[in-house]
Amino acid sequence: MGLRLVFLGPPGAGKGTQAKRLASQRGLAHVSTGDMLRSAVARGTEAGKKAKAIMDSGGLVPDEVVLEMVKERLDTDAAEGFILDGFPRTTKQAEDLEKTLADRSQALDAVVNFALPIDRAIQRFAGRRSCPKCGEVYHIEAKPPKMHGACDKDGTALVQRPDDSPTVIRTRMAEYEDKTLPLILYYMREGLLLEVDADGDIEEVYGRLDHAVSQREAGER
Ligand code: ADP
Ligand code: AMP
Repeated sequence: MGLRLVFLGPPGAGKGTQAKRLASQRGLAHVSTGDMLRSAVARGTEAGKKAKAIMDSGGLVPDEVVLEMVKERLDTDAAEGFILDGFPRTTKQAEDLEKTLADRSQALDAVVNFALPIDRAIQRFAGRRSCPKCGEVYHIEAKPPKMHGACDKDGTALVQRPDDSPTVIRTRMAEYEDKTLPLILYYMREGLLLEVDADGDIEEVYGRLDHAVSQREAGER
């Protein structure tokens, strides 16, 4: 049986980086609501049109827009196991997720909180670059591409996300502290929370994550 995991943590904590790797190692679907929304914006879909201005300003897209996107994945490629990255982000989304999973006779196995002081997360944004074609994420120092400014996978010129600008980051962090931080307590109360220290290099953090998830799996057997 595939695991059902949620990744929590401030923007820039490294959730996407770690989720891609753990998902490919364990055959799980990587469900990133940020990636889905960026793709919807790029394709000019209805959801994308609703989301664009909100994302550019650093706010949160309405709960129901995001929930619909997640449900679609739960009924397709994520039916057998997933990592939810960037969802839920509000208590309402967490409650909706619980109901949605219960309707499918499913439940979460664990919620991983990537703990990183906000000032360290902000340092990571400055160097983030991504491929507009395939979504691969790099960092100019911590994870540079093989060829300067070009994606390793398809050679596309890397870009800086518009919402990684210093002013928008301030709004995103404020949204995180106001609306998403309370979810740590929410999931702690449910006995689902696993804390992973995200302050370290990408390999170190992956080692801690893999260890924490494996221990939880062993405990459940
Ligand atoms: P999130 O999905 O939590 O917003 P990302 O996975 O996109 O975060 O990571 C943010 C930036 O930090 C990216 O440029 C990524 O390459 C880099 N990064 C991720 N993990 C680490 C780490 N452990 N140390 C240094 N940089 C990292
Ligand atoms: P991320 O890639 O996770 O940093 O998300 C980028 C942006 O997408 C956020 O700043 C929000 O505007 C939007 N977004 C992503 N996930 C959600 C969510 N679960 N709820 C609301 N908005 C979201």
